Amino acid sequence: MRILIAEDDQVLADGLMRSLRTAGAAVDHVASGTEADAALMTNTEFDLLILDLGLPKMHGLEVLRKLRSRGSSLPVLILTAADSVEQRVQGLDAGADDYMAKPFPLQELEARVRALVRRGAGSTTNTLRHGPLVYDQSGRVATIDGKMVDLSARELGLLEVLLQRSGRLVSKDQLVERLCEWGEEVSNNAIEVYIHRLRKKIEKGPIRIATVRGLGYCMEKIT
Ligand code: CA
Repeated sequence: MRILIAEDDQVLADGLMRSLRTAGAAVDHVASGTEADAALMTNTEFDLLILDLGLPKMHGLEVLRKLRSRGSSLPVLILTAADSVEQRVQGLDAGADDYMAKPFPLQELEARVRALVRRGAGSTTNTLRHGPLVYDQSGRVATIDGKMVDLSARELGLLEVLLQRSGRLVSKDQLVERLCEWGEEVSNNAIEVYIHRLRKKIEKGPIRIATVRGLGYCMEKIT
């Protein structure tokens, strides 16, 4: 999952990034409203926006209104000052999906992030099932026929994206976008290598990752 954090408090942003990366997310960070707006206009592969309202250059509410006016349904979690009931209400009215008042426990933020991303993907549980393969998104554990599969962080990320779009084509470019943060160099060839490794570990019984030549990959539906 790929998350954009718009937060001008560097200490808080660093803490959030560390915590969400440990939980397996690819995280990008901007520190002003204008940067957030620009990032959201040019990149459509985010799964979630964590948005501080008190941002320099452009207020968080304005960033949110502009996002929604472009028709985006990207899940948005706003961060507000603890005493600002009015800002929370304004944020929710402007199209935010959830809010957290500062300061907050990181554990709770992680749980809310999972819930929002899940809802955004149209799922109500943390578990993705694909025939004998079960993937637990909160524990980041994959099992086949109840046996744990040993996967690297990158392989888990790939598996998650393919499972979320099971039966649909996912292009190499989309995989790069969904898995990598800005400034991280991952080539299409590297994606091929990761897919190759993932296949060796999970292609058992009916589980297949099909290559659509020149286009990308598809987790074949199991009927
Ligand atoms: Ca702020």
